[in-house]
Amino acid sequence: MSVRIIAVLGAGQMGAGIAQVAATSGYDVILRDIEDRFVQGGLSKIEGRLARAVEKGSMDRSAADMVRNRIQGTLDMAAAAKADLVIEAVPEDPELKKSVLRELDGLAPASAIFASNTSSIGIGELASVTRRADRFLGMHFFNPVPVMRLVEVVRGKETSEETLQTVLGVCARMGKTAVEARDSPGFVSNRVLMPMINEAILALQEGVATKEAIDTVMKLGANHPLGPLELADFIGLDTCLNIMEVLRKGLGSEKYAPAPLLRRMVDEGKLGKKAGHGFYDYA
Ligand code: NAD
Repeated sequence: MSVRIIAVLGAGQMGAGIAQVAATSGYDVILRDIEDRFVQGGLSKIEGRLARAVEKGSMDRSAADMVRNRIQGTLDMAAAAKADLVIEAVPEDPELKKSVLRELDGLAPASAIFASNTSSIGIGELASVTRRADRFLGMHFFNPVPVMRLVEVVRGKETSEETLQTVLGVCARMGKTAVEARDSPGFVSNRVLMPMINEAILALQEGVATKEAIDTVMKLGANHPLGPLELADFIGLDTCLNIMEVLRKGLGSEKYAPAPLLRRMVDEGKLGKKAGHGFYDYA
């Protein structure tokens, strides 16, 4: 099936990045959020990144304008129903994702493919609220989307071969490397990454070392480009907490229990970089 229009649900950190990469790859993009300030926030992030690319000389002005003009921001779910491929990037909350997917399923033509950018929730579980389990799969992008090359493509039990091949083609056109993973909580990336981040938070909570020391140990000792606490701030502490809850429930083990400090910081609104503060300050 050929994809010409991509709708992205959620104009946050991930949605804005996915919309930008899709438009840069020549797709027409509909970017939908629930309030105008969120849509405008996503669009201005994209405009800022395009302006920086022009300043640096990695993109010329007319190409940047063309990319921007391919993206239409909207609050209207019916506008998203015009897409050939829908990529859902709303917060990592199973009930919220299901309600959004259910609503759009009722509006979109049978031919449209739905993909979720979920970090950890089962693809089969999300697909089950739609009538298109064969045209549903996971497209897990990484942050920041314009920079990170990987897309973890998660095939549900019922995902058809045609759907998989169409989405692999979209990933290739976006210049991304697609890696296939089975539908299991956290897939590969967050099954491995998130318990490490959670363990770093436990070490901080227990006073094993300062946050700077923990991050430096992992940067210099394990050659990670970012320390686990910096990375948690970058991902969003609410997202980290939700992923740990999905791992705990889905894999049925207390080994995945979220660190109490993580929960406390989310309760206090310290969600990381997007909120201005988390383990570090970003004012
Ligand atoms: P975010 O909080 O930055 O953005 C979520 C956006 O969704 C917000 O703008 C919010 O207003 C919007 N939204 C809420 N309800 C909506 C609805 N009904 N319709 C449309 N938009 C709605 O979160 P994020 O970091 O962009 O994460 C989004 C998804 O991407 C999550 O599933 C997360 O697990 C996944 N993800 C995040 C990262 C990361 O590093 N942050 C990486 C890979 C995947």
